[in-house]
Amino acid sequence: MPFNFLVDLEQLSGVLLAVVAIVAATLTALWIALIIWTYRDMKSRSRDPFAQIMAALVVAILNIPGLLVYLILRPQETLAEQYERALEEEALLQEIEGKSVCPGCGSPIKQDWRLCPYCHTKLKKPCEACSELLELSWTVCPYCEAPQIDAARRANPRRSGREQAPHPHEQAVSSLE
Ligand SMILES: [Zn+2]
Ligand SMILES: [Zn+2]
Repeated sequence: MPFNFLVDLEQLSGVLLAVVAIVAATLTALWIALIIWTYRDMKSRSRDPFAQIMAALVVAILNIPGLLVYLILRPQETLAEQYERALEEEALLQEIEGKSVCPGCGSPIKQDWRLCPYCHTKLKKPCEACSELLELSWTVCPYCEAPQIDAARRANPRRSGREQAPHPHEQAVSSLE
């Protein structure tokens, strides 16, 4: 009898050990999977390697509560979503810019018009050096880098005296005219 009992106890402890081992292995695998998932998820939301490692560490140390904390605090948008939104905004901006209207009367105008044909508002000006069409407010030509004296004078009437000083030739020409 005592012999049988011992064998039963040995078998029982063997089964128990196996169950504990399986449960432990499952929990460990789940723990590792959670850490990997968190790291990957953070990687898709942030380029900062420190933030990626911190997120994985929080889950590694705190397990399920750590995952909850991560899910609450993680950046709302993934990088792909951010990029998509930036593209949408850019497209929207281009649409607005493409359908430009006259600041004087609101009529639709084309990008290369110098004057509004409806209300005669001046829209664009030719560069003083290369004749490319420029916005009226630009003080320098983006095509040939020539400074636009008229626009500079309009934009900064008080500073124009000082800005004109290094161009005595310009003043001499205008006084001759
Ligand atoms: Zn107009
Ligand atoms: Zn120019």
